[in-house]
Amino acid sequence: MKRAVYQDEINIVNLHISCYNRHMQIIDHITATFQETFGSAPEHIVRAPGRVNLLGEHVDYNDGFVLPAAIDRATYIAFSPRNTAHSTLVAVDMNQQASFTSQTIPSKTQADGSTLAEWALYPAGVMWSLNGEGLSTPALNAVFASDVPRGSGLSSSASVEMAFAVAWQTLGGWTLPPMKRALLGQKAENQYVGVNCGIMDQFASACGVDNKLLLLDCRSLEWKTIPLPEDVSIVIADTTVRRKLTTGEYNKRRFACEEAVRLLKQDLPAIKSLRDVSVDEFNRLAGELPDEVSKRARHVVEEIERSNQAEALLEAGNVVHFGELMNQCHVSLRDLYEVSCFELDVMVRVAQSLKGCYGARLTGAGFGGCTVNLVVRKEATTFAQTLAEGYESETGLKPEIYITRASNGAELLR
Ligand code: ADP
Ligand code: MG
Repeated sequence: MKRAVYQDEINIVNLHISCYNRHMQIIDHITATFQETFGSAPEHIVRAPGRVNLLGEHVDYNDGFVLPAAIDRATYIAFSPRNTAHSTLVAVDMNQQASFTSQTIPSKTQADGSTLAEWALYPAGVMWSLNGEGLSTPALNAVFASDVPRGSGLSSSASVEMAFAVAWQTLGGWTLPPMKRALLGQKAENQYVGVNCGIMDQFASACGVDNKLLLLDCRSLEWKTIPLPEDVSIVIADTTVRRKLTTGEYNKRRFACEEAVRLLKQDLPAIKSLRDVSVDEFNRLAGELPDEVSKRARHVVEEIERSNQAEALLEAGNVVHFGELMNQCHVSLRDLYEVSCFELDVMVRVAQSLKGCYGARLTGAGFGGCTVNLVVRKEATTFAQTLAEGYESETGLKPEIYITRASNGAELLR
């Protein structure tokens, strides 16, 4: 018995060591690549994390509350200022390089006139939106790499944006609050890259705090930190399934929410969004809505109520009840918002049957991607292994499982 307990502790310590080693390896690698490419050592290193959302799903565009955490997977940039007009970026993970200036970016081209690669739109977009505010973005040499998996819903894109925002802040002689950097990153992604994301991704990457969840009011953009007990781990499980056509489904749900507000306004003229409708009011009026609109809106109204409860629960250290809210959230996303899929449901069902699991649910937009699980810390490695086996035996797919913890937001390391 004692041996098993020690083994759990050893597993967790090993996990932290392997995470630390992975990050040191990335920093060593980008530093060496910088030296090889530019002939000197980089002056600075920044890091900016990915994120995961614990509660408050599909409520950001309904003025609700979201509860993300920055995770201990991040993008790292080694960089130095340079004396030419153009910035040169090496994307180690893409094995590619790009050069651009403030003059070439409006046309999405490089300094030599060729079109910017897709990955380069993210840093170039950050330069573009900073320049739009009149902030200077001095030319830099940069080498960057990341251990945030790309396209899994853990916001590798926001981590790249927030890392470059801090890099240019370091060289530009100006300072912005993290939330303002997040808003400019979102603007870059919406208007320059052309991806319609909400503010949560950049917010969490910019504002993350070690061992804390972040509670963001998507209407006022006010936010605060909420403690997460030390003895829980956030385990992210990637189904490895990616569904196509999700943009159309996403837009349909946004439209259903708008339609619900329009119809509910007849009885509740003061409401601006579903955020303004209480669960009681909704129960009274739901019968007047078309079935599908009613289901979508019920998810949003009840999910906002759940995220309202989260703060008091976690302040009181009541992880058990918080985990139940996560489980309820999954049922609601599956049955009311209808954004789950077979693989996500399997991953959640297997997780919920395992020892040490407080709560499990799909996270992100849905239709594939990842689940998020809150797990007793000393059970996390066994949980991860058993979950992977259970999922694979039912689906034939090998999942990716990441045991993470809430981490700091974008920061200059040196
Ligand atoms: P995610 O959920 O990971 O944010 P997105 O599709 O929003 O998925 O963003 C992924 C894109 O961000 C990649 O296709 C690439 O263009 C860019 N990106 C992310 N990480 C890196 C990286 N390490 N190096 C270069 N580009 C990256
Ligand atoms: Mg993204």
